[in-house]
Amino acid sequence: MVNTFDGKVALVTGAGSGIGRAVALLLAQGGARVVATDIRQDPVDAVVHEIVASGGLAAAFVGDSSDPSSVEASVAFAVSTYGALHLAVNNAGIGGPQGLAGDIDIAGWQKVIDVNLSAVFFGVHFEIPAMLAAGGGSIVNVSSILGLVAEPTAVPYTAAKHGVAGLTKAAAAGYAAQGIRVNSIHPGYIDTPLLANLPKPAYDGLVAKHPIGRLGTADEVAQVTAFLLSDAASFVTGSQYTVDGGYTAL
Ligand code: NAD
Repeated sequence: MVNTFDGKVALVTGAGSGIGRAVALLLAQGGARVVATDIRQDPVDAVVHEIVASGGLAAAFVGDSSDPSSVEASVAFAVSTYGALHLAVNNAGIGGPQGLAGDIDIAGWQKVIDVNLSAVFFGVHFEIPAMLAAGGGSIVNVSSILGLVAEPTAVPYTAAKHGVAGLTKAAAAGYAAQGIRVNSIHPGYIDTPLLANLPKPAYDGLVAKHPIGRLGTADEVAQVTAFLLSDAASFVTGSQYTVDGGYTAL
């Protein structure tokens, strides 16, 4: 990863925690100048501090990824701070309400669609023009195994994450000839704060769904994300990469 991203500017949403944090640290380690965005100030400041303390370059932007004006401002901030935008990871997301389709409340559905799907569209929508201006770029949208298969009690989450895969394919096909690659990653269950407070039987039940015999780590997802962003993946676009310990192989 050393020097892989020298000269590149990267924007990572939801960078204050979990997968986004791991991606921001790894890209900075690879030489990228990183704009770390999150809705929460303290965690994203802490990530930027960590990057700078280890010799990297990063800046924080606090905003709501489901608000288009905030996303537009975050891209403008990246360009004004570091001169361009080449890489983006649309990662911010939430879990959402649990229940069968007939039981979940409408407001819960809307919130998950806003944060887990519309926010990814806003990201792609504002990032692509900045990347075209920079001569090309690469985007990774963070979906889930639930963007490929269903969990019957996670209806809005499953729907939003499938939407991310479709959005990714359409954007990839639309901009491939102009030097923009867009891919989605589909993590299995990853040990992050998103899964904090799960009772042990529920945690063990999730482990049992992964043939590899454990949950994933944020760094394992970051490694695949970095590969897709890098020139090593120069012929990869419109794809859905699983990082799931075999979950969807069953
Ligand atoms: P996390 O809760 O550790 O981190 C998510 C970050 O996003 C937080 O820092 C949070 O403040 C931020 N965020 C939430 N809503 C936001 C908003 N509206 N605007 C800006 N920032 C916002 O979660 P994580 O596990 O690292 O998840 C990251 C992504 O990976 C999500 O899209 C999630 O759906 C996806 N994912 C996670 C898992 C898992 O098991 N943890 C599995 C598959 C996919």
